[in-house]
Amino acid sequence: MPQRNFKRILLKLSGEALMGDQQFGIDTETVTRVAEEVKLAREAGFELCLVVGGGNIFRGLAAADQGFDRASADYMGMLATVMNALAVQNALEQQGVDTRVQSAIPMASVCEPYIRRRAMRHMERERIVIFAAGTGNPFFTTDTAAALRAAEMQCDALFKGTSVDGVYTADPKQDRTAKRYDSLSFDRVLSDNLKVMDASAVAVCRDNDIPIVVFNIRERGNLARVLAGEGVSTIVE
Ligand code: UDP
Repeated sequence: MPQRNFKRILLKLSGEALMGDQQFGIDTETVTRVAEEVKLAREAGFELCLVVGGGNIFRGLAAADQGFDRASADYMGMLATVMNALAVQNALEQQGVDTRVQSAIPMASVCEPYIRRRAMRHMERERIVIFAAGTGNPFFTTDTAAALRAAEMQCDALFKGTSVDGVYTADPKQDRTAKRYDSLSFDRVLSDNLKVMDASAVAVCRDNDIPIVVFNIRERGNLARVLAGEGVSTIVE
């Protein structure tokens, strides 16, 4: 992706990005490295806010498949994202980065509630805001929360950190002939049902002109490289 004039970025970190090589939960070393990436990007002059997922701890849909009530399971999933948000906050603060966690489900003793204007103010003061508890509503995902917060915070782009370096014609882990797209349109992603983010998230980005950049967060230094227009990624716009 060539360098763009992105200044304010929403970084979506899936729960998996915090899991390292483990099968479950939070890997401290991985969280520290991800926090380093965020710190480097901020030092390079970018304004960042984060949405963290919870799939490394609990997924509502998977639990519902096993008989849980879907809405209750989704609330549990949202609580899982709060745990991840606190882990990322802790890692960032250990590296001297000022952060605030804001939860879409108010949890006064743990973190701030989500208040848009307050989040804006934190960003103006160069704090990194970590948005937790997704949208606060069951039947949604943190991808949609990321798109929503990116629009609310007037971000120039949504960066989705995953374990692959972009969007492929097929799953590159299964199909060796799969090719990576450099760029794609929102409509193509939706019509071909490409697995970038869920459809509601893609639609929110499309309707608000927020490009989605898919890149590999597992490679050290990659966030800074992609932001500088040097790394490998796919841009959806
Ligand atoms: N979730 C929800 N509403 C939201 C965001 C998340 O109900 O707005 C729940 C849902 O159960 C989901 C879980 O939280 O499975 C964890 O989020 P997600 O699966 O998006 O995390 P990721 O895949 O990014 O790790």
